[in-house]
Amino acid sequence: MTNCIFCKIIAGEIPSVKIYEDEHVFAFMDIMPLSKGHTLLIPKTHREFVYDMTPEEAANLFSVAPKIAKAINETFQPEGMNLLNNNGAKAGQSVFHFHLHFIPRYGQSDGFG
Ligand code: 5GP
Ligand code: ZN
Repeated sequence: MTNCIFCKIIAGEIPSVKIYEDEHVFAFMDIMPLSKGHTLLIPKTHREFVYDMTPEEAANLFSVAPKIAKAINETFQPEGMNLLNNNGAKAGQSVFHFHLHFIPRYGQSDGFG
């Protein structure tokens, strides 16, 4: 999709700090992290919402979630981690290309929650 910033990140037209990439998915650091190590995991095929994804697309994405979370844990050593996904502006979505947030948590000092 030509006007989508995440499609442009996948295509390398917008720079990002890449964490992981395979045939189906791309993971990169959030530009405005809610905490140290905040990462986004997206499908390479443009899908706005979770409702738009096939079970196979969702499986391809979620199957790498443990690997991404483990890499974040090893790199940043948080005390916990939230995985979350917003669907629709009302739910807090601001980029309309499906993304799964990985938000590491650091006790009192992470300034979030
Ligand atoms: P949402 O609010 O849609 O669930 O989350 C969108 C996320 O994308 C936000 O956390 C925001 O900081 C991040 N974001 C928006 N534009 C860019 C960008 O150009 N590059 C990166 N790396 N993250 C972005
Ligand atoms: Zn897109």
